[in-house]
Amino acid sequence: MYNIVLFGPPGAGKGTQSEKLIQKYGLTHLSTGDLFRKHLGEGTELGNLAKKYMNEGRLVPDEVVIGMVEEKIASTKNSKGFIFDGFPRTTAQASALDEMLEKHDMSISGMIALDVPEDVLKARIKERGKTSGRVDDQDDAKINTRIKVYFDETLPVADYYEKQGKFKKINGVGAIDEIFSDITKVIDSY
Ligand code: ADP
Repeated sequence: MYNIVLFGPPGAGKGTQSEKLIQKYGLTHLSTGDLFRKHLGEGTELGNLAKKYMNEGRLVPDEVVIGMVEEKIASTKNSKGFIFDGFPRTTAQASALDEMLEKHDMSISGMIALDVPEDVLKARIKERGKTSGRVDDQDDAKINTRIKVYFDETLPVADYYEKQGKFKKINGVGAIDEIFSDITKVIDSY
């Protein structure tokens, strides 16, 4: 069983690589961004709560995110493990995740961080905005907020896993398949 945190700023390619990883390893994809967008689309209470944060590129409050993840983990049966994508985004989320997994006799195998320079991120997000339909992909100010939030609030999560000896950074620029192959090398070493 593998439980992997795929880490990196917005636009780093976490979603793209997650799709390939779930196919290769049969893991359950747990993307908090996707879960929130699903709630938003269905107009649930949780979706309405998350909407204003998401549309402005700010983080949804920890307790809301943690509750949603807890529910998803508890309702997933017979999983070979999870790929956490876009979560944890704060150190409070990271320690909550450790506690949740422990309850289910699981633990994080490792964090894999995709390293991509800021100018490339911005260009990728704007390109994605042409087709993603995401409000937060289409506006320079919102894109800048998301990247700033990443550096201010999310980057410390890398230290959290580094301290546990579970952090690995790989180059996130280049061909999708090459990046994928680098990720699989890390996973196969667990
Ligand atoms: P990105 O492309 O910015 O990585 P995501 O799809 O992961 O986008 O997330 C979109 C938005 O959903 C974030 O900007 C944030 O508002 C909210 N969100 C997703 N995951 C989390 C999380 N773990 N904690 C707080 N907010 C989150």
